Amino acid sequence: SENMRFAVFGNPIKHSRSPMIHAAFAGQCDVKLEYRAVRVELNDFQRAVTAFFDAGGSGLNITVPFKEEAAAMAMELTGRAARATAVNTLWRDDAGVLRGDTTDGVGLVRDMVANLGWRIQGQRVLIVGAGGAVRGVLEPLMRELPTSVHIVNRTVERAETLASEFAVLGKITASGYGDLAADQYDLVINANSAGLSGEMPALPPGILGERSCCYDLLYGAEPTAFMRWAAQNAAWAVSDGLGMLVEQAAEAFYVWHRSRPETQPVIQQLRGVLAAAA
Ligand code: NDP
Repeated sequence: SENMRFAVFGNPIKHSRSPMIHAAFAGQCDVKLEYRAVRVELNDFQRAVTAFFDAGGSGLNITVPFKEEAAAMAMELTGRAARATAVNTLWRDDAGVLRGDTTDGVGLVRDMVANLGWRIQGQRVLIVGAGGAVRGVLEPLMRELPTSVHIVNRTVERAETLASEFAVLGKITASGYGDLAADQYDLVINANSAGLSGEMPALPPGILGERSCCYDLLYGAEPTAFMRWAAQNAAWAVSDGLGMLVEQAAEAFYVWHRSRPETQPVIQQLRGVLAAAA
């Protein structure tokens, strides 16, 4: 029989590692599939999604900048996707209904807790940025019961909106960068896209304590600007977002195939690929 077909839709998409990750999972789980990275024009998303499934496609991952549009398009959302109003995983069920889920937050929490052995429970957390990624991450993060979460963002209003939307889950505050100075955090999560161009917002050095952990959603061959900042300011532990990428893919793989691949060998494989490309 024909292979099941999957793809990731985004713009830009050139350097996507998702095809490699899903191919590795498929090999482990004895699933036959094709998985392609597709660059979709900004005004063509809905048509492209419909065309993909009409042509027999089995599932889509959605990345920047289409996650909110994907949430609006899905007929049925999982609870976590509805609350995030962001979708990174789409499929059609047996009745032909387009369904959406978000696996980014589960991916981040699994990488921090299971892979890195970091604690979230009882910790004071700082999130840098208030974009789509933070939207997807907040609920799974709050379920780990941090003591408090502070969201700092250039556009303060965006951080405030997130803080109030997710306030039922625990203590969340928001501010601009100028109001950070006095506080310390146990866990700092960078979800700021300025890192894509090698930059980061100015963070006061005093926000890190002796045992603070710093996690960047970004990843690449070299340490990111935020990771360098964390190391310079004596962070206890520092990680990039490669593990999150593989873990969110594993959760999407589970949504589609109902099997759980091993993530560790794929994270190692991907580290090797990135190092070789450096
Ligand atoms: P968005 O475009 O939705 O949000 C971008 C955020 O960065 C906003 O908070 C924005 O602030 C801020 N920002 C951008 N430029 C600047 C700047 N020059 N100065 C200060 N703040 C700035 O992006 P996403 O939330 O979707 O993604 C954020 C990052 O996370 C990206 O780098 C992405 O690659 C990464 N990511 C990694 C994943 C993984 O699996 N590892 C998964 C998902 C995302 P403002 O609101 O003021 O504009």
